[in-house]
Amino acid sequence: MQIDCDFHIHSRYSGATSGKMDFNTISSQGKLKGLDVVGTGDALHPKWLDEIKSLKEYSEGIYEINGSKFILTVEVEDNRRVHHLIFLPEISSAESLRETLKKFSSDIDVDGRPHLRLNGEELVDYVKECEGIIGPSHAFVPWTSIYKEYDSLGDCYGKNISDIKFLELGLSADTDMADLIGELKRVVFLSNSDAHSPWPHRLGREFNRVEISELNYKSIKNAILDKKIVLNVGLDPRLGKYHRTACIKCFTLYELKEAVRLNWRCKLCGGLLKKGVYDRVLELSTSSSPRHPSFRPRYVRIAPLAEILCLALKVKNIYSDKVQESWKKLVTQFGSEISVLIDVPTREIEKVSNKELAKLIRAFREGKFKVEEGGGGRYGRVIFGENKEQKFYRGTQSMLDSFVE
Ligand SMILES: [Zn+2]
Ligand SMILES: [Zn+2]
Repeated sequence: MQIDCDFHIHSRYSGATSGKMDFNTISSQGKLKGLDVVGTGDALHPKWLDEIKSLKEYSEGIYEINGSKFILTVEVEDNRRVHHLIFLPEISSAESLRETLKKFSSDIDVDGRPHLRLNGEELVDYVKECEGIIGPSHAFVPWTSIYKEYDSLGDCYGKNISDIKFLELGLSADTDMADLIGELKRVVFLSNSDAHSPWPHRLGREFNRVEISELNYKSIKNAILDKKIVLNVGLDPRLGKYHRTACIKCFTLYELKEAVRLNWRCKLCGGLLKKGVYDRVLELSTSSSPRHPSFRPRYVRIAPLAEILCLALKVKNIYSDKVQESWKKLVTQFGSEISVLIDVPTREIEKVSNKELAKLIRAFREGKFKVEEGGGGRYGRVIFGENKEQKFYRGTQSMLDSFVE
């Protein structure tokens, strides 16, 4: 069977998160989104762990409330400010990992995403001890990721490199970018939301479709180890405001070579040039075009339904009645937001909504749009149609917190 999963979120016990990140709200919103399994996030935090304990055990390592299922996950920050995502088999393993890591952390009782005085290699040893799995989170963001700090997985994980089976792409990269880097050919890519609030334009904003035999921890872990991710879904990374190297004053885009030659000064306005995520990937790249291994699934670039509705209905605010009513109607009719975005034939969508929405969803699904890339602090935008018919999607709402870590 195939399930849709978002493995990386944060509870209200992490910094800069919504007070509504509680299990009742996450489960009800996750259902509307269409997620089958959500990562608990913050599984080492004592209070969140207490709340996890109050959930019903559905199967080994899967916990349930209001029909929504959760798997134990946590994100930690190491001594070089690199973030890692950890999956854990059961509550007792979260408790024992917590006890072990306590001596390396001064905020494990306070912050859902604790800071640890350990490096990546040491961390893997402790996670392995409790039969968890670990990999880098949002691997390409400029502030708190493996590739802002190191040039290779091995530099971070040392002798434990073979235990790294997955890497989280994060909002600033997709499979086409990551598959420019040869060492990632053997690694599964996960696309998770890293949501800090539970609403369906955040939760499951990126998700994975996973092939499993039965719904328990072991089966999900094996799906990752055996490369059974069948679909990655997420935002178009080219929209990110630091995607390309660009001038921070006039936003002119530059090739890396030219930026270096110009000593990081804009030739048009003299402004400072800021290196983009794309060029960081190019520095690490081993080929000039993406080389996808045979197990690599398709990456569908899509936006949250409420934001596509804004575009279709010509409304700016996703919380406006017009957008919210249409959103509810579609989700009620087709069961979930993910069904509308990915699975339902667009001619069915056309019947209950307007033609424009169906057209936009089809364009997203088929990747039939152009992108004006972001850079230098300005978001990119998606361009649909030609000339006078053109429509733009800047995705500001979503991209905003892609760099809030
Ligand atoms: Zn993070
Ligand atoms: Zn300039």
